[in-house]
Amino acid sequence: MKRTPRIAILGAGPAGSALAALLAGRGIQSVVFDDEKRPALLVGESLIPAIVAILRRMGIEDRVAAIAQFKPGASFFHHRGTQMHFNFRSVEGRLPPYAYNVPRPEFDDVLKDYAKELGVTFVKHRAGLVAKPGGSPELELDAAALKAGGWHDGDRPALVVDASGRARTSARLLGIKAEAGPRRDTAHFAHFTGIEHPFDQGQIVITFHEWGWSWRIPLPERMSFGIVMNPKSLPHFGANGEERLEKVLATDGILAPLAKNRRRVTDVYTYTNYQLLSDRAHGPGWVSTGDAFGFVDPMLSPGVFLALDAAESLAEMFARHGESLLDQPERLAKELARHEKRQRAWHEAWHELVAYFYDGRIVAFYERGTQLKADYPGWFSNMMEAISSRTLAMMATGAATRAAWNRGYLRGCSKWLLKPERAKELALP
Ligand SMILES: Cc1cc2nc3c(=O)[nH]c(=O)nc-3n(C[C@H](O)[C@H](O)[C@H](O)COP(=O)(O)OP(=O)(O)OC[C@H]3O[C@@H](n4cnc5c(N)ncnc54)[C@H](O)[C@@H]3O)c2cc1C
Repeated sequence: MKRTPRIAILGAGPAGSALAALLAGRGIQSVVFDDEKRPALLVGESLIPAIVAILRRMGIEDRVAAIAQFKPGASFFHHRGTQMHFNFRSVEGRLPPYAYNVPRPEFDDVLKDYAKELGVTFVKHRAGLVAKPGGSPELELDAAALKAGGWHDGDRPALVVDASGRARTSARLLGIKAEAGPRRDTAHFAHFTGIEHPFDQGQIVITFHEWGWSWRIPLPERMSFGIVMNPKSLPHFGANGEERLEKVLATDGILAPLAKNRRRVTDVYTYTNYQLLSDRAHGPGWVSTGDAFGFVDPMLSPGVFLALDAAESLAEMFARHGESLLDQPERLAKELARHEKRQRAWHEAWHELVAYFYDGRIVAFYERGTQLKADYPGWFSNMMEAISSRTLAMMATGAATRAAWNRGYLRGCSKWLLKPERAKELALP
């Protein structure tokens, strides 16, 4: 008789489906719940090279490539004139020297279909949880979810993985606090045709504006365009997402000349509330992963990587100890604590890196480097430029975001090289 899986996963986003597939690849089956009510568009379209490495390890890069736009790098424009262009070739040897831009629903389907091929059961159901404060387990599936997932006669999964994204089902239910980042921006985005893109094909472009920042993510046959606006500026650009996107594209000094022939081909979607990290990611019988644990500001696109990295980390845990880990609560708790520590370290490192882009230090650093090179041409300034570019590339691609040397280098440079008043002028409002 087929045994009911011992792991239940809430959510078939990247975190949930990748985990289910990776577990199945190690002979451990799970049941994944999702109500399949996702919107037509989802954010998370720009991927970083560290994801390509994971896709290769999973053996599905070709499937993703088939639905994706090849992405050679990223460019940053500041409304005061500075431009920074990065090509992922600079991390060759450490990571694949490119990434992809993906229509997210299709990307999620690639992961889900792969998991299905490996025998994972997907159940169309929005799973409810029941809290058992202080108990072991501390939370479990409610009766409807147990039934929908095929558990009967008091049988239940030994581990519930909360991969429910921003719903943060477990944290909300258990009243787990979260540390929120300092910003309260709103993002609106949609897909367009007819926006000119005078860059390498697939290069994403981030523009710093007086009111926040915008993204241009080339996708197959269309462009994802989004704005991330601070609360003070919102009313000046209209009453809703449609009006604000339209006004920015019609009037912005950098964007308007490129967007004369724009045509919006989708509805406009809105996101608020990002930058958040839960105080706790696991307890007896459960663990949260991906956005359900926390999310980093999306300017450098780390979200899907964090979801996939967490999936790999959890799957590795079971690869090391086998499914019997589920029968050893103390050992499982220790392993989950180690997993949480790793995820927390990733979040903190990305958060620190993103802050340089918001508070003007990265653009000021770039300007200073360019100036020093002009003032003191020669091997030393060339070497400094090479080290700085590589350090930044290693961090922003996910190759070495957490590395102490890189973080120390950036901290040191911004302390000793930068003029704080210039960084202030360049900071996002
Ligand atoms: C404005 C913005 C732009 C972004 N841009 C990027 C980017 O360019 N690149 C990038 O990498 N990341 C980006 N991100 C982040 C990225 O979208 C997320 O980090 C990523 O989607 C997280 O994946 P996940 O699987 O954890 O959650 P999700 O993708 O949200 O998946 C969660 C799934 O769980 C389901 N679910 C919820 N509750 C239940 C339940 N009770 N039972 C069953 N299923 C449930 C949901 O329906 C959903 O399908 C962006 C985020 C924002 C806000």
